Amino acid sequence: MVKILDNVYSIDHSEAKNHSMESWILDCSEGTILIDGGMTPQHVDNIAAELKSMGKKWSDIKAILITHKHGDHIRNLPQLVELTGAPVQAHEYEAPLIKETVGVEVKGLADHTVLPWCGGIELIHVPGHSEGNSSYYLKKHRAMIAGDTIFGDEDGNLMPPPERYCLDVEQATREMRRLLDYDFDVFIYTHGKDIIGGAKEKVKALVEEHS
Ligand SMILES: [Zn+2]
Repeated sequence: MVKILDNVYSIDHSEAKNHSMESWILDCSEGTILIDGGMTPQHVDNIAAELKSMGKKWSDIKAILITHKHGDHIRNLPQLVELTGAPVQAHEYEAPLIKETVGVEVKGLADHTVLPWCGGIELIHVPGHSEGNSSYYLKKHRAMIAGDTIFGDEDGNLMPPPERYCLDVEQATREMRRLLDYDFDVFIYTHGKDIIGGAKEKVKALVEEHS
């Protein structure tokens, strides 16, 4: 069990060094939220193990939030929906693309929608990596769950998402700055070592380096 913050748990799907990958569980008083669902049967097992160690079961998950449409984030959705019965939500541009790819219903959310769980979870649309790529801001925790909006390495050195994974790398790089409208100390993202403390300064430095 990897507890990043009170109520915030990281599921480590890494299969090799220098190929880190995470998804997340939020243990909110209103219910349990899964953010991103992985791609392989092993990833489903990883989520199951994390839930078990938290004393939770699949049916405790009340919502599945998705950062974007890429396979490593959504391919398990049909199975996860069956296991949890939970509704899936993503940015409104991404929702139909996810549905088209994996065949599950996805509710589209507008930019800056604040979901009323865990003290407020705000969707921030950061286009470029994909059409509706999003990060989720946890207001109460001063934490940014960035997804693939920014990449990093095993030492927590941040970088823009690599061109080969982006719909429009220039847009993805330019729009990273949208995250700076928020106050956060903790930066949690899919590929790279999470930053606990002083994270906004690091993101700001990255944005400045690329502007
Ligand atoms: Zn991606």
